Amino acid sequence: MNQDLDNYLIDKYPYIFRDRYASMRETAMCWGFACGDGWFDLIDVLCELCTRYLETRPELAKEFFAVQVKEKFGTLRFYVSKGTDYLFALAEAAEDLSEYVCEECGAPGTICRPNGHWIQCRCPEHGGPPLKPLVPPSVRVAIDQWGDEYVDLHPGPHADPKSLADLETYLQRRPEMRPLIPVFARAYETFPGVAWLLQAILQILGLTGTLKDHPDFALEIRDVRGDPVFEISGTIDDELRGTFDFYSAFLKRWREKNL
Ligand SMILES: [Zn+2]
Repeated sequence: MNQDLDNYLIDKYPYIFRDRYASMRETAMCWGFACGDGWFDLIDVLCELCTRYLETRPELAKEFFAVQVKEKFGTLRFYVSKGTDYLFALAEAAEDLSEYVCEECGAPGTICRPNGHWIQCRCPEHGGPPLKPLVPPSVRVAIDQWGDEYVDLHPGPHADPKSLADLETYLQRRPEMRPLIPVFARAYETFPGVAWLLQAILQILGLTGTLKDHPDFALEIRDVRGDPVFEISGTIDDELRGTFDFYSAFLKRWREKNL
């Protein structure tokens, strides 16, 4: 990461990055932020949320600091000295989303091998492949009680018969995603500028099995002054709250950058 961004982060979060210039015998933070500039916002938003949480937990704040920040296998790693379920969930959400954010410039990206060797996350401009929709952003739902008649919800450009068939296959593998797809499909329309991130989040929720542990989980995406904000309900633990707090905050940042 370039020196200006590095300086910005250690000035803004002196406690989290207190070991930035400590000896290499003590910490891997001495190497700085060992990743590209494109992940600056992931790190900044993560640290903002950690700071807000730690403000009311001074004892924990004394012991919480970054020990290493780097790229590994194409994704961000943010290692800390100590944490709670909430803090670890924030960091994990940032790490998971880094798989969809170009490490060079912060644009939508994909995991690929741009130089033929190393796995990295890149946008098409920085050597990545063309972007394709991650999950078909529309859904076919039954409109009668017998399930004989169907309607295509939000049939965007991807609602051709093949993508709906793909979606059905996907939902058979991940039935817990069925209630979420219409919620996300509506959000793609309301917030087209963040469609890529919403697709990424939906895909992560499917891949990580986050919802399996929360059978009564329900989600809405509300428009809060033009920003998509996740509203979650059901039996919510700190881990789930941390995950969605990060998603909401990062979506807001992404919109601000692209307005
Ligand atoms: Zn890029």
